[in-house]
Amino acid sequence: MSAGADSGGTAGRGLTAAHDAAGLRNVGICAHIDAGKTTLTERILFLTGVERYVGRVDEGTSVMDWMTEERERGITITAATTRVPWRGAEINLVDTPGHVDFTVEVERCMRVLDGAVVVLDGTKGVEPQTETVWRQVERRGLPAIAFANKCERPGADVLRCAEDIAERFGRRAVVVAYPIGGGDTDAPLTGVVDLVHMRAQALDAAGQRTLSKVPRSVADEAAVLRAELVDALAEIDEGLFAVVCEGRTPTSEELLAALRTQTLARTVVPLFAGAALMGHGVALLLDGVASVLPSPSEGRPPELFHVASGAPFDGAVPALLALNFKVHSKVRRGERSDLHFVRIYAGELGPGSRVWNGRTGHTEEIVAVLRIHASDVEHIERAGPGDVVALAGLRETGTGDTLTTEGADARLEPPTIPTPVLGYLVEPRSDKDRDGLRAALEQLAREDPSLHASLDPESGQWLLEGMGELHLAIAMARLSDEFGVEPRHGPPRVALRESVRASAVGVGLVDRAYGDAWGNARVEIELEPEAEPAAVPVVEFEGTALDLPRTARRALEGALLAESSSGPTAGHPVVGVTVRVTGATSERDSAPEVAWAQAGLAALRDALKHAAAKAAGIRLVEPWMSFVVDTPVDVSGGVIGDLNSRHAVMDEILSTGTVGRRVVGSAPLRELIGYSTELRSLSKGRATFSLRPRGLDFAPAGSSAGAPGASGEGPA
Ligand code: GDP
Repeated sequence: MSAGADSGGTAGRGLTAAHDAAGLRNVGICAHIDAGKTTLTERILFLTGVERYVGRVDEGTSVMDWMTEERERGITITAATTRVPWRGAEINLVDTPGHVDFTVEVERCMRVLDGAVVVLDGTKGVEPQTETVWRQVERRGLPAIAFANKCERPGADVLRCAEDIAERFGRRAVVVAYPIGGGDTDAPLTGVVDLVHMRAQALDAAGQRTLSKVPRSVADEAAVLRAELVDALAEIDEGLFAVVCEGRTPTSEELLAALRTQTLARTVVPLFAGAALMGHGVALLLDGVASVLPSPSEGRPPELFHVASGAPFDGAVPALLALNFKVHSKVRRGERSDLHFVRIYAGELGPGSRVWNGRTGHTEEIVAVLRIHASDVEHIERAGPGDVVALAGLRETGTGDTLTTEGADARLEPPTIPTPVLGYLVEPRSDKDRDGLRAALEQLAREDPSLHASLDPESGQWLLEGMGELHLAIAMARLSDEFGVEPRHGPPRVALRESVRASAVGVGLVDRAYGDAWGNARVEIELEPEAEPAAVPVVEFEGTALDLPRTARRALEGALLAESSSGPTAGHPVVGVTVRVTGATSERDSAPEVAWAQAGLAALRDALKHAAAKAAGIRLVEPWMSFVVDTPVDVSGGVIGDLNSRHAVMDEILSTGTVGRRVVGSAPLRELIGYSTELRSLSKGRATFSLRPRGLDFAPAGSSAGAPGASGEGPA
């Protein structure tokens, strides 16, 4: 039997019942860079008949990589979605970005998935970066299956991958596919054994699946692995346990049912195997997606939040709920056209549907509902709950927004955005580019709320801030490729903050006319350093300050928070302090709110001035990163010495195998700029590392943070 009949090809397109969610699968292929996600996706598109030829990443023809710079870099950053049919199921492949810089985007894409396919490099097993990806899958509580890729290569070892998953993820991996040849055997990879049905799956000349008996070369291993699969599942699955107790060998259906139940319960991770590059094992993996991963109705119900406060929402669920998880913008001849990728949780959307956005408070009309099939686009009349589609016609909706019924006070994503950690000073090449640059930066920030752009009116420069080096590099590339502005930019500068070392007090007094009213206000303030710097200062009221009317207190608090956005020594935002308003008095009966705000502001400046004048004065606070570096032992001395010189705090150094060392710790982000280049040269390309944001902390003693020029110079 060939897989041509399996897939149904493209024939069913357009006839798919949008409202039948039982056969729907919203899955993300989750992998770190180089594990083979793009190659696997291409292969899936080919197998399911959506693409007539297999695009090769290495040749730059990948159809999932929409944007030019992705093609140039060979990595996948934009989250698009593609619909593929597979044996009666309809699979929405949601492209999840794998780079750690894009955590906001990854999180959001994870939120719209019901299941995950985690790709490992079969020759490397679980790498530190795989753990980052896995943590994201875990955090969302997604049922997952895994795919050991590159199994034709020497060193590929599916059983070791299974052990790794158990050891590093703490989840039992059950091997459901076993390579025929490849790895460290002498034979080339010719296919995989489906251990549930005990059949061999190979490929015909056209790259489609053929089925046959399990070849003798792997018959023994396959038999042992199948017995292990049955035992492992019978231990935890009641249904299968009953079958085994009867003394029967379970049928494939019984085994599959147990596998599905336990995958959904997240007690096991089925491990598939193959080589995406040749296409081995990919059809079986798709069977797995269709047969063991959940449909939208089996996934967890979405969490809801109140629109403004972000507090958990427990009222009646609105009749329409859809999360906008990606905006894809193109500007052609000055006209912007956006595609909004949404996951629908409740209600239906079609052309002409009117949707309400609680963030903007506006209703917008959908012009078209589209289903994206890799490179071509299908207009559909209606999309229902559980579906992932693209919408055209929305003008004001941004990434992370919820589309719902008018006036509903519920949103799907909490309104928090992590503080950017790295920025560039950006300026137009000439004055005539100024408006274009402004429009382009605003557009980028709207698409991706983890990018911030702010204008310094004095210098005319923009500060473009984001989540890391690559994040900013991509934004810069888009500015020139898509928006046609080619701004100059300076070296990356880390977003530094200031904090005080010791407590300090300050007093502010105003006594002047405000229009017809006279304002007399005196505010006293005490600054108290916090042991661990939080991202924004805490404001507390005490003593006579408690007697202030609520509106005056609010004005005062607002002024204090605004003033603390620029610290006393270098103008960085002040964090890691509690601002206590200990007194607020007026010689008159009352004072206008603005008088309280101005007195508070003066008091805070006074206190910061006193703090800065003290011996230890001001402390710099900066973003830190946690790292895991894997290095061969013979170069580990140099790698560790280099980390020391970067003021890294090393938590542990472990042996990995006989010839490897793993260094786990954290360091200021500022010290890690350009680290990949340095590590490559120190280890001749043999060491690898992964980074993840650890939050704000004090700059290490003796580091150069805060020294002149440490925060970067202007554009070159
Ligand atoms: P991504 O970064 O996860 O999207 O990974 P890619 O799909 O771009 O693959 C990274 C590299 O691994 C490319 O050079 C691919 O050709 C290669 N690759 C992918 N799958 C296989 C495979 O099955 N076998 C081998 N040998 N190489 C593969």
